[in-house]
Amino acid sequence: MGKVRKQSEVFYKEALKHIVGGVNSPSRSFKAVGGGAPVFMKRGKGAYFWDVDDNRYIDYLAAYGPIILGHAHPDVTEAICRAAENGLLYGTPTELEVTFAQMLKDAIPSLHQVRFVNSGTEAVMTTIRVARAYTGRSKIIKFAGCYHGHSDLVLVAAGSGPSTLGIPDSAGVPPSIAQEVITVPFNDLAALETALARWGSETAAVMVEPIVGNFGMVMPKAGYLEGLCSLARQHGALVIYDEVITAFRFQYGAAQTYEELPLLGDAKDAAAWKAVEPDLTALGKIIGGGLPIGAYGGRQDIMEQVAPLGPAYQAGTMAGNPASISAGIACLQALKQPGVYAKLDSMAARLAAGIQTAADKHAIDLTINRIGGAFSTHFCNHPITNYEEAQDTDGEIFAQFFRLMLDQGINLAPSKYEAWFMTIAHSETDLDETLTAVENAFAVMSKT
Ligand code: PMP
Repeated sequence: MGKVRKQSEVFYKEALKHIVGGVNSPSRSFKAVGGGAPVFMKRGKGAYFWDVDDNRYIDYLAAYGPIILGHAHPDVTEAICRAAENGLLYGTPTELEVTFAQMLKDAIPSLHQVRFVNSGTEAVMTTIRVARAYTGRSKIIKFAGCYHGHSDLVLVAAGSGPSTLGIPDSAGVPPSIAQEVITVPFNDLAALETALARWGSETAAVMVEPIVGNFGMVMPKAGYLEGLCSLARQHGALVIYDEVITAFRFQYGAAQTYEELPLLGDAKDAAAWKAVEPDLTALGKIIGGGLPIGAYGGRQDIMEQVAPLGPAYQAGTMAGNPASISAGIACLQALKQPGVYAKLDSMAARLAAGIQTAADKHAIDLTINRIGGAFSTHFCNHPITNYEEAQDTDGEIFAQFFRLMLDQGINLAPSKYEAWFMTIAHSETDLDETLTAVENAFAVMSKT
């Protein structure tokens, strides 16, 4: 075991001189897994990427979700090259944007109108502004441990990177803004009811990841989303689904449209799953095929708040740029092919089952939450249904596991809260190699 990563260390040392913390997104840092140089990658193809020391890794990070087709998928690469040849940016509307908007609407019918932006952060941030404009109210209810990007309002009790680094409530968010956010536990309708009873008349929107991806993969309990939507609406608040992770991840469409329940894997409460439509939706990640993108959309009368039709302003020099839109179209076209999601589901099922078996064999406490082609591994002996339970897991054991896997060429996110993402490029041989690495890692861990 053990890979030499000398060049990564050299680049990291240089990076620290110029880039804050040496990384352009805090979740890339190894701070939560014992520190040191993160791996500097130089090339990706299919399920693999190679670091600057020429070590090969099987990748389950998938760039935190977008790379569902694997690295350098030929259709996406070709679409981007074609777009580049035609000129990267015009500052005018293009036919591509219309085509892509139509594709998204066909897949997600609650999107009566959409707007393209450049990131999930922007998409979420704008849905909040639009909800506030529409309702004339200012408060937002969000769920502890959900992550909705890095705009001020949603950096309160934020999961993912902020939790990993121990800063769920970011500095720099003024108290006047933080007090506009009410945080309640996920999967607890009574808590939401209490919050709405107190603040309902001031609440513009309830914002949720309908299937959580930011403190592990967590299914809503049976009836939870129906209850959430109905409670919000009783109080005149809008429902915003943050589907930045969930859209096109588990099926073609979004959590709000997923109907073929068996493909939701073996997650608890999957059998009782019922799709419920929100008023507004935020999208990102997969819909850009690996290029920067975000989108938001929803009910016609709400979206008419947005300029130039209405008084809520949102704009972007790069918004709807031809390269991102072309990559997104190519990505969704590939995902529409028959069998794609069944393959992601069955590979993830095999991998998750193999990991659980190995953990049991070595008497390592492990809870796996799997939903279709994504799953999270929590070192604990209890279920994970909310943020509190996800926090109550062993970060040090995760760090040891992460390092042992990395040293065997298996790339995971350096955080106990993030998921493993399956791509269509993974093969059964990759799964064999991964399961061998897991077995080796658990053998070491059970002795320490
Ligand atoms: N919402 C969710 C659910 C996310 O997982 C993320 C990113 N991990 C975001 C929003 C923010 O997206 P971006 O990083 O593209 O700004």
